Amino acid sequence: MNILIGSSEVQPFSKTGGLADMVAALGKFLGRAGVRVRLVTPLYRGLIERHPEIRRTDRVVRVSIGGREEKAAIYEWEASENYTIEFIDHVHYFQRSGIYGERNEDYSDNAERFLFLTRVLLALSLESDWTPDLVHIHDWPLGLYPVLLRDVVARGKARRVPKTLCTIHNLAYQGIFPPDELALTGLDASYFTPSGIEYYGKLNFLKAGIVYADHVSTVSPAYADEILTSEYGCGLEGVLVGRERSLSGILNGVDYTEWNTTSSNPHLKFAYTANRPGGKMREKKRLQHDLGLPVEGKVPLFGMISRLVEQKGVALLGEALEQALNHRIQFVCLGSGDPELEAVLQTLEQRFPDRVRVKIGYDVTLSHRIEAGSDFYLMPSRFEPCGLNQMYSLRYGTIPIVHAAGGLRDSVVDSNEDNARATGIKFEAFNSAALLEAIYRARRIYKRVELFRAYRTRGMAADFSWERTAKAYLDLYRRVLEEGPAANP
Ligand code: ADP
Repeated sequence: MNILIGSSEVQPFSKTGGLADMVAALGKFLGRAGVRVRLVTPLYRGLIERHPEIRRTDRVVRVSIGGREEKAAIYEWEASENYTIEFIDHVHYFQRSGIYGERNEDYSDNAERFLFLTRVLLALSLESDWTPDLVHIHDWPLGLYPVLLRDVVARGKARRVPKTLCTIHNLAYQGIFPPDELALTGLDASYFTPSGIEYYGKLNFLKAGIVYADHVSTVSPAYADEILTSEYGCGLEGVLVGRERSLSGILNGVDYTEWNTTSSNPHLKFAYTANRPGGKMREKKRLQHDLGLPVEGKVPLFGMISRLVEQKGVALLGEALEQALNHRIQFVCLGSGDPELEAVLQTLEQRFPDRVRVKIGYDVTLSHRIEAGSDFYLMPSRFEPCGLNQMYSLRYGTIPIVHAAGGLRDSVVDSNEDNARATGIKFEAFNSAALLEAIYRARRIYKRVELFRAYRTRGMAADFSWERTAKAYLDLYRRVLEEGPAANP
């Protein structure tokens, strides 16, 4: 089977969030399972300098953007068995310091930039000697692919038509643009209707993916259910209900070759296991020491690594911690994002200098160290399509405290659900009182050494390996390939 993946991010080359981890692992583990995979992604600034293994090919793709011809040079990297990444080079569109924008502001030409990427993906899927059976697109940046494909087919210009799968990593980001951007796409006005790619008078990239792909998926079963409701559907619930029979949820996996507590992890100094947890205590003390917090093994340490945006429940956390920090706990946070939410956390640090450290920035090593050095991990997201850190936390013996939403609901077991299998703490109501109560529950568990150890041991044994996730995608690809032509418009 040949699978062509399109993504605006891929780890370790470009990343703003979980999407990058997911597509990188998807390519790698599908390749291992014998699928031939190519992944198309932009060649962002600095990539060739940082990754000399990326080689220029002599292939050039020409596509039309608003009637104008634009050229892409193709760079390549053989990532692993059966898995090649194709980097799309276009100086004007991609040689910038950000992926979607800079200083919290989106680039004004994002519709054009990602339309270009999508057109190149389309050209590669139809014209090269390597023909994909299925094209798997991710999130709004590639959302136009299925409709552009349909248009080419309708005009009789495609010999072999791949199936399409559109995976939604976060419905809150839809790629909504002014209607005049339609002219760039080359699509005629018949597509610009409420049952097509129009969304209240605007052009909606993700909606195009949802409406026109053969199949739609999200990154957890619970989120696949939630997005059918007005609470979580971000205005697209009606469209999604219309595609319910072609909608699945597959929980992301963890790449345990990267996220583990063995001596092969270059970010950690001390290895540990559930049976030999001594290294975890050393990582805790090293973290406390290096961050300038009192080095106290017996004080429960709560960690968090996150984009600091409304979705992640930062405001709620600020309110709950304001109370909880009057008790002997420590809180360490790494993240960046909305300046107002950064300020919420920085204020806590000023108010509780012996108990709180907030690092604004992006730092992979520190993220591993916080996972390893913390006793509990806070993830009070209002909604969470999948979430990765709660699964990393489990493997690192760090008990997750999560709002019961989306992938958090699917991956953490609370004692209220199954006492003998509990791995973490879930709170249902999205308010600071419920979060505070969850933090207090954590303190009570922490004080009961045997119980705490049982949570930790079960969490570390939980298996969210990518082999399973890749197999689920493979099964889904097979299902989509077996289905006849899609019934959607
Ligand atoms: P989202 O995709 O919504 O940001 P996920 O939990 O799916 O949330 O994925 C977030 C990923 O980004 C995780 O791998 C997490 O460790 C990483 N991450 C987020 N913020 C930072 C940061 N400031 N420094 C390092 N890694 C970060």
